[in-house]
Amino acid sequence: MKFYNLKDSSEQVSFAGAVKQGLGKQQGLFFPESLPKLDDIEQLLALPMVERSVQVLHPFVKEDLSKEQLTEIVTDAFNFPAQIQPINEKRAILELFHGPTLAFKDFGARFMARCLQAFSADKKLTILTATSGDTGAAVAHAFHGIENIRVVILYPKGKISLLQEKMFTTLGGNIETIAIHGDFDDCQALVKQSFDDQELKETIGLNSANSINISRLLAQVCYYFEAVAQLYRQQGKAALKDLVVSVPSGNFGNLTAGLFAKAMGLPIKRFVAATNANDTVPRYLQTGEWSPKDTVATMSNAMDVSNPNNWPRVEHMLRSGIVPEDCVSSKSIDEEQTQMTMIALQKLGYITEPHAAVAYKALQYNASDDEFGVFLGTAHPAKFKEVVESTLGQPIGLPKELAECATETILSVEQEADFAQLREYLLK
Ligand SMILES: *Cc1c(COP(=O)(O)O)cnc(C)c1O
Repeated sequence: MKFYNLKDSSEQVSFAGAVKQGLGKQQGLFFPESLPKLDDIEQLLALPMVERSVQVLHPFVKEDLSKEQLTEIVTDAFNFPAQIQPINEKRAILELFHGPTLAFKDFGARFMARCLQAFSADKKLTILTATSGDTGAAVAHAFHGIENIRVVILYPKGKISLLQEKMFTTLGGNIETIAIHGDFDDCQALVKQSFDDQELKETIGLNSANSINISRLLAQVCYYFEAVAQLYRQQGKAALKDLVVSVPSGNFGNLTAGLFAKAMGLPIKRFVAATNANDTVPRYLQTGEWSPKDTVATMSNAMDVSNPNNWPRVEHMLRSGIVPEDCVSSKSIDEEQTQMTMIALQKLGYITEPHAAVAYKALQYNASDDEFGVFLGTAHPAKFKEVVESTLGQPIGLPKELAECATETILSVEQEADFAQLREYLLK
């Protein structure tokens, strides 16, 4: 299958090309030339996750990966579960945080790392990325130990929590981390300068591994299938004829993947795109005007995005009839509602964190009592320990992934926010 640039459909690349390039010309996003309808969905749903995922992904990658290669990659990447937990008779959460960094980003990052490894052959690659927390951990763990790929992660010194820092700076090996004397924007600017430096880019084979990469989205399609598979088993097919899925959204990659799944025939009736106070999309769907405001900081900080970079993919699917235009609604949830919802879920016996709470509340606004509603749990509550403990008034234990790295040594070097210094480091 070919992937074309949404800004210039004459630019077409294979899956391998799209993975290696990330973005097309004029920063355009790659989009699959078709979203193949899968036949016999029920039979597909009866398969184990890895086997099913191979079938879901194969049409997209078959020019570049054999079924055997794909099976190996998927087996290795999805080596932890996605888990449906019922909340009550009509609501359930899809827990996506049982991977090594306790966030759903593990699915996409691990799949991408293994695809890149397969496509880079013997060429050495350098992944350069800036992080304000979560992405760094998912990328570092996903690429750790992968031959021929060097990972360099920049982060603002002293501006992320110690536990967050330890999750990606203690691995060593092919994972190098640089604490920059500056803020997150300085780190992003250094990454951008590096990618603008053609000579540097070619010498070290620069790639960004960020969330617009099509491989990350395709990986995420698989857990929507897994969710419906588990629900069929738990609830029976009849209970799910009106299935609504609420997605806590920042850059809207997760929602894009859900819409891919729907377009391929997965029986999801519609989606709720849940946001925090950064409400560009809900305002846009209401008024038709795209007018991002300044980003505001919230408790659900992984969704503090005012100009979501995957929106053009969603827009394209809604406008071109790939999915019904009315199958996405959107709702912004404020901080007070978020906390009240965490408490309401606690009363139902479920401990959660702000991102999932935003999704649950938006689901309650948008789905009727007759509809079956699923919301996505994108991070483990322990990753947001402070706010969860202060809101719920009960201690949250650290899972072993976090507890283990808490005692490890930080291996970062420190640098000024200075491109010349970074360039020299990268070339060494
Ligand atoms: C990245 C992230 C999101 C937002 O996902 P998008 O695909 O960018 O919309 C939501 N919750 C958590 C915990 C995240 O890390």
